[in-house]
Amino acid sequence: MGKSWHNLLIEEDGRSTGLCDCCQNKTISLSGFVSTDTESLAAYFIAYTNGQPKHGAEFTFVVGKWGDEAMAKDRFVIVMHHFPEQGFMIDSDIAEKKSNMRDLASNFLNRDDIIGSKFADTLFSIVDAVYMKDSRIDVIRNWKANA
Ligand SMILES: [Zn+2]
Repeated sequence: MGKSWHNLLIEEDGRSTGLCDCCQNKTISLSGFVSTDTESLAAYFIAYTNGQPKHGAEFTFVVGKWGDEAMAKDRFVIVMHHFPEQGFMIDSDIAEKKSNMRDLASNFLNRDDIIGSKFADTLFSIVDAVYMKDSRIDVIRNWKANA
């Protein structure tokens, strides 16, 4: 059975704020988890800048095995950028940008690793579940209407 985003569960977790380097507007960082009824699928992190849809929002996903037995090598990092006009775009080169996540996951998937892979369907269901169900990102969902 495929994992439709409708059936995936979101658990909203942390929220923190900061200042954008370029414009000094407030930045928002959110985290959470995605699971099915029975297993954890992914952790995610969302970052965006208030009032700056042109900056886009960065969605980082850590997907793979979780639980006591799982290790960093069992998980993958994927970064997607969301812009009002273009929607989601997979980052093409994340290993250096996300090197601070090596304790959490030791595999970094770039755009070319994902497109056309078996993994892609599951990943896109996870992305859709977060985008549609995280109650804290109305501002991102509304970017399109306001752009
Ligand atoms: Zn800025």
